[in-house]
Amino acid sequence: MQEKDCLFCRIINGEIPSAKIYEDDYVYAFLDIAPGQQGHTLVVPKKHSANILELDNDHGAKILEAIQKIAPAIMNAMGAEGFNVIQNNNEVAGQTVFHTHFHIIPRKVNDGMGLWAPKPYETMEKMQEVATKIIQALQ
Ligand code: 5GP
Ligand code: ZN
Repeated sequence: MQEKDCLFCRIINGEIPSAKIYEDDYVYAFLDIAPGQQGHTLVVPKKHSANILELDNDHGAKILEAIQKIAPAIMNAMGAEGFNVIQNNNEVAGQTVFHTHFHIIPRKVNDGMGLWAPKPYETMEKMQEVATKIIQALQ
């Protein structure tokens, strides 16, 4: 269920302190120690999985339910008008803690946070080539 050397398992167990904001049988949510914006929260399944590909469906559904409950509260508390849900998988994508987690980051107008710089396809044909490659990989 949990791994003794996993940072987030240890936070869930209470071995490492955290600023907890929500907990139920499946989910634990606490403030990120290095927030992108004040109120940046991590929503974590209690059952250990390394990333979203290993997350079981029960925990996935409960995580989504918790996000729908927590995000409006974060927005209200922080005076934010919106929020991002960010979820990193594998080191190359910025994952640094290998226990599945979802970032909720409250957003305000002109808060200076950017997410990605768009790299448009050169042509519609190139876009379709990429779609075809992914569809083939799904077979
Ligand atoms: P990742 O980069 O894996 O998507 O996100 C991991 C997040 O965990 C980072 O945003 C980082 O600031 C946060 N984090 C790392 N160690 C701790 C900790 O000990 N306590 C808390 N509250 N957050 C942590
Ligand atoms: Zn863990």
